[in-house]
Amino acid sequence: MRVQNSLLAVYAKCGRLSSARSFFDGMEGKDSVSWNSIITGYCRTGEVGEARRLFELMAEEGNGDEDEATDLFQRMEKDGTIKRDTASWNALIAGYLQNGQKNKALGVFRQMQSLGVTPNSVTILSILPACANLVAAKKVREIQCCVLRRNLDSEMSVLNSLIDTYAKAGNVVYSKSIFDRLLTKDIISWNTMMTGFVLHGCSGEALALYDRMRQLGIEPNRGTFVPLISAYGLAKLVNEGERVFSSMTEDYNIIPYLDHCAAMVEIYGRSGRLEEAVQFIEDMAIEPETSIWGALLIACMVHGNIRLAVLAGERLHELEPGNAMIQHLILQTNALGENPEDSVKVKSPDKRNDTKHSLGQSWMERKNVVHSFVAGDHRQPDAEVLYSWIKSTIQDVKRHDSCDGLCIHEEEKEKSGWIHSEKLAFAFALIDSPRAPQSIRIVKNLRMCEDCHRTAKYISKEFECEIYLNDSKSLHHFRDGHCSCGDYW
Ligand SMILES: [Zn+2]
Ligand SMILES: [Zn+2]
Repeated sequence: MRVQNSLLAVYAKCGRLSSARSFFDGMEGKDSVSWNSIITGYCRTGEVGEARRLFELMAEEGNGDEDEATDLFQRMEKDGTIKRDTASWNALIAGYLQNGQKNKALGVFRQMQSLGVTPNSVTILSILPACANLVAAKKVREIQCCVLRRNLDSEMSVLNSLIDTYAKAGNVVYSKSIFDRLLTKDIISWNTMMTGFVLHGCSGEALALYDRMRQLGIEPNRGTFVPLISAYGLAKLVNEGERVFSSMTEDYNIIPYLDHCAAMVEIYGRSGRLEEAVQFIEDMAIEPETSIWGALLIACMVHGNIRLAVLAGERLHELEPGNAMIQHLILQTNALGENPEDSVKVKSPDKRNDTKHSLGQSWMERKNVVHSFVAGDHRQPDAEVLYSWIKSTIQDVKRHDSCDGLCIHEEEKEKSGWIHSEKLAFAFALIDSPRAPQSIRIVKNLRMCEDCHRTAKYISKEFECEIYLNDSKSLHHFRDGHCSCGDYW
């Protein structure tokens, strides 16, 4: 690589840019030095348009670290290749975000401010969604401070996005305080706040908010009905949910979409009215898709209905025959069924593919460091201590509670020596501190299993410690032995 880079630098420096470019294009595994040479080459010959285009491409492909990128960026500003303005920095941030590199985008966001370039509402609106998770709560705070400093708090879209991001980062109380202080609220503010309450299992607050909105004479729109139906589901108010679902079309002329229908399946599911859920799906005016059958499958898992679980599995398999996760779920459902003729026929998924899909991972922040945990991992420092702590805690949990649903897991079942990642995170958080932390925040890539859910409830009571856990399906807030999801996820 070093030889290739020096050759490239020679071409670029002596002005033979077309040779440099074809050499650059043919290079495999370009690093930041290669990008640097070619961009500087274009700057020198005054072809600023091409230099800028390459620069954005570099950010998009996520080459180099953000320090090198911003370094180069600053030199281009000095040369006059690009204007020192917010728009060009926003382009750089957008490049990193497009490539899924949230931390690098945040790094650029910080550098931009330290260099005196003022973020605008576009910057904030692009960076905030990158912090919409439980381990980024501090970053949301940092961005909010920037919003206040730059007087961007008069922009409704920025405040709505803050309400949304705070809720997703586990601080719905902050969302509420921003919402309450809004002098004017648009329909998005109301919908976002309702969605935040539903996410945290606060059905009462969501429904009260809807009432207040109606009292003020504000018309609901399509986006209002998803959190509204979900709130009725959480509160197990099936009739009210049915009424509002039909009033969507009758009173407001809004045709229900898939997300409204999935919320209806969940209403029936949460109340254990599975046959009505199936009837609802059969009567749907639009073609049911994976979200609908997925909602039915969850209902069947929670209420232990194998026959309907097989039906939901069959439909999911028809819609996405290549989905390894669905195959994995169906194989487990089949194994639980009594009648082999009920089983859905699926090939055993490709083993390599399957493990890739079902490898559970959790992330947790402690003292400003994000730690990651992988199911069955013994390479953690003090792994043996963690495992023995978990073993004794599991014994305690078993004495308290048992499972009556269908135990179908998205990830491989736990066995001795193979423990799910969130349990490793619980142990890590609780084991070496003299007092249990007030709260633990975890992000997990797969759906939590019943056993880990039960363990988290137990820990929240025994250690007086709140646990926030975002899995691939929902946000769980465990407090005093209960979970905000109502044991339905
Ligand atoms: Zn588990
Ligand atoms: Zn839960």
